[in-house]
Amino acid sequence: MGDQDKNGPLTVVKLVVIGGGAAGFWGAIACAEAYPQARITILEASPQLLTKVRISGGGRCNVTHACFEPTALVGQYPRGAKALRGAFSRFQPQDTVRWFQAHGVRLKTEADGRMFPTTDDSETIVACLMRTANQLGIQVHTGASVTHLTQQEPGFTVQLKSGEMLKCDRILLATGSHPLGYRLVQQLGHPLIPSVPSLFTFKMNDLRLQGLAGIAVDPVQLRLVADDETFDQTGPLLVTHWGLSGPAVLKLSAWGARALHQARYRGTLTINWLPEHAYDAVRQQLLAAKMEVAKRAIANHCPVNLPQRLWHRLLTAADIPRDKRWADLSKKNLTPLLRELTQGQYEITGKGVFKDEFVTCGGVDLNQINFKTMESRCCPGLHFAGEVIDVDGITGGFNFQNAWTTAWLAAQAMGQSHHT
Ligand SMILES: Cc1cc2nc3c(=O)[nH]c(=O)nc-3n(C[C@H](O)[C@H](O)[C@H](O)COP(=O)(O)OP(=O)(O)OC[C@H]3O[C@@H](n4cnc5c(N)ncnc54)[C@H](O)[C@@H]3O)c2cc1C
Repeated sequence: MGDQDKNGPLTVVKLVVIGGGAAGFWGAIACAEAYPQARITILEASPQLLTKVRISGGGRCNVTHACFEPTALVGQYPRGAKALRGAFSRFQPQDTVRWFQAHGVRLKTEADGRMFPTTDDSETIVACLMRTANQLGIQVHTGASVTHLTQQEPGFTVQLKSGEMLKCDRILLATGSHPLGYRLVQQLGHPLIPSVPSLFTFKMNDLRLQGLAGIAVDPVQLRLVADDETFDQTGPLLVTHWGLSGPAVLKLSAWGARALHQARYRGTLTINWLPEHAYDAVRQQLLAAKMEVAKRAIANHCPVNLPQRLWHRLLTAADIPRDKRWADLSKKNLTPLLRELTQGQYEITGKGVFKDEFVTCGGVDLNQINFKTMESRCCPGLHFAGEVIDVDGITGGFNFQNAWTTAWLAAQAMGQSHHT
């Protein structure tokens, strides 16, 4: 009888969850499931609940990722990997899948590992969380912005913008990257790591890419240098109207989030369009074409696997006229062409928007959180979950998994009346 042992039969814990997003709902639900007698209230500042879940994944909600090995999983988190290692051994994507299945939602896996509801509709996830919270008797208030938190012995006083006050034993702070949430964290004397955006596209103003929007190359190898730091990534690349996007760029934006912010979103990107071949092998392919299709125009015969329009741009960049024939490709042409193919340099001029997923890095300093219970080390009874903490993942469902896992861990501890 785990629940009885944990709680004691007569204990009634009052829990206030601040934030009606993914982490807040998950924490409230998991706590109610583990401790049925707990009295749980969710306070959400905005008029709507689960807003980000609704708009996530282009309206399909990329719930999690089919990565079931905690060691591999933590590798997808530019910030928070070490702290999440133990957390994922207790609650990981497999548990998320099982939970949703047990609550009537089936998930499917796409070729790249991202998991979505089989309905391809985020409303399925929203409806499931709302229904479950309702069935468990969780009180949910919208338009309930929390402005002040005061620790008392025991418990807390929660003050709302409306002037209303609430008393509770424990708090789950799940305010995402909202500045109001950070303010509450600071009120309680908690250190914060400054927040900066992650998961964005690169703005570029490069003639080689203009007019190529929609072209995708997979894989490419990218090297980003920003603020004297270097980041490498290999994967699919997408040319957009404003610059570059695609998984490889988004991952770079996550790993390089702080360096790029520091450099005011300026940096140098080196692109190897043909990472599956060594430099010498590419050279041999070009020299072979010179022999085999000597009479053809270089522009009309691309001996490597690249979209024709991109090939044309790279030829222009290497100063090779369109009508030049392969037979006339000189040594002087070969070097710049090889450079364009394998190590062309592009200047990043700014940060673009990736509308399918966006996250903020920074937040509550992980050193101040006990990751077994998600409880604050400096303010007993205060727990954290989701994006408010200094954890963020690359794109692909990892950010919601952080919310599910940290909220679940907090939930297992929050129904207990005595502070640990
Ligand atoms: C466009 C978009 C698409 C995304 N798609 C995906 C995806 O497909 N997969 C994925 O893994 N991740 C995705 N993400 C990231 C993911 O949505 C977040 O990591 C996740 O929602 C974080 O959950 P959370 O509950 O911690 O915070 P939030 O979802 O931000 O919820 C916090 C809530 O707290 C409320 N709040 C804040 N302060 C107060 C206060 N003082 N009083 C009361 N309430 C307050 C806010 O109004 C908000 O509703 C996406 C993000 C965006 C913006």
